[in-house]
Amino acid sequence: MSIVLLGSTGSIGVNTLIVAQRYNLEIEALVAGRNIDLLNKQIAIHNPKFVAIADEKDKNRVNHSNIFCGDSGIVELLERTRSTTVVNALVGYTGLAPTLKAIELGRKVALANKESLVVAGEFIDMSKIVPIDSEHFGLWYLMNNRPISKLYITASGGAFRDWNISDMQTALFAEALNHPNWSMGNKITIDSATMTNKLFELLEAKWLFDTTNIDAYIEKKSIIHALVEFVDGSTTAHFAGVDMKLPIAFALNNRVEEEILPPVDLLKMGSVEFKPITSDRYPIWEIKEHILANPHLGVVINASNEVAIKKFEKGECNFFEMSKMVLDAYTKFSDIRARDIDEVMRLDTEVRKYVQ
Ligand code: NDP
Repeated sequence: MSIVLLGSTGSIGVNTLIVAQRYNLEIEALVAGRNIDLLNKQIAIHNPKFVAIADEKDKNRVNHSNIFCGDSGIVELLERTRSTTVVNALVGYTGLAPTLKAIELGRKVALANKESLVVAGEFIDMSKIVPIDSEHFGLWYLMNNRPISKLYITASGGAFRDWNISDMQTALFAEALNHPNWSMGNKITIDSATMTNKLFELLEAKWLFDTTNIDAYIEKKSIIHALVEFVDGSTTAHFAGVDMKLPIAFALNNRVEEEILPPVDLLKMGSVEFKPITSDRYPIWEIKEHILANPHLGVVINASNEVAIKKFEKGECNFFEMSKMVLDAYTKFSDIRARDIDEVMRLDTEVRKYVQ
């Protein structure tokens, strides 16, 4: 079996290559952005037929003869490949068009790029998606044929969970990257600090499991990733180590019958506590109920959030102003509803212009 890997040089991409090697999967294509040194190392090891990169001007640095460039290059590359599984580990809105193309081509999409679902879940065929996200993997793992009353996912609380709220006003980008439990790409780490990542995951769960009866609580150890409450009054929890190789292994293989991670050491774990997510520390949480009832507005949150993160990175706004910008765009565009994917894309552009 072979796979196509989009976002191979990122945190999920690197873990995917480790899992793929373990299962002797061939890598038909690698797609990366700007980390050409790491891409060249991956090419030397995995010998892909096709490669794509973000920027044409890096082309002569890539050790390969079949290179595609830019966003359109990723789509062209997909058209040339034959693998039945495409792993989409791109970050942000860039991941949407490849998700849509892979589905159009009849591929299974092992999807880490949650932004695809946040932006356009309404127009994506969920039967083609297997999520690579620890919480959704946990939910899937717990579900069985019993009637469910509610789904829960957990949040670590992000970099500033123990800070004084007044200090968060002046927090730096580099400080927001200091995630307490997970080592991940920059964008998702910032999204964890603002709790936007958890809002995205609620939307992701809505589309994947077709329910809005879902909530998130803080569990600081990130040892429980998801819980399922059943109508009979039972609640079951999914415990696993902080390592994405487990969800990735399941997304690549239908059956996993060997140890991917060491089991959680229950005696060393200590106490586990759940806490509510509050909008004084995480202002974005104000719109949780509204967005779950109006998930088509995910495109507005995503576009405004991507612009806001760039501004925070450049020092053009402070930490809380990121959420303010998103909430402002959310109010401004709350009456708009895209009727098809082209309108989603137009709306994305419009929101970005507004926030910019
Ligand atoms: P990273 O930032 O570590 O990796 C992103 C990847 O996308 C890199 O390979 C990057 O290339 C590539 N990329 C970015 N822009 C482009 C572009 N324009 N063209 C081609 N390639 C591009 O992110 P993560 O791996 O952390 O996250 C990826 C996705 O997975 C996100 O949607 C995230 O929310 C989701 N996710 C991540 C988890 C994690 O543990 N990291 C957990 C659950 C979900 P380069 O680096 O070469 O520029």
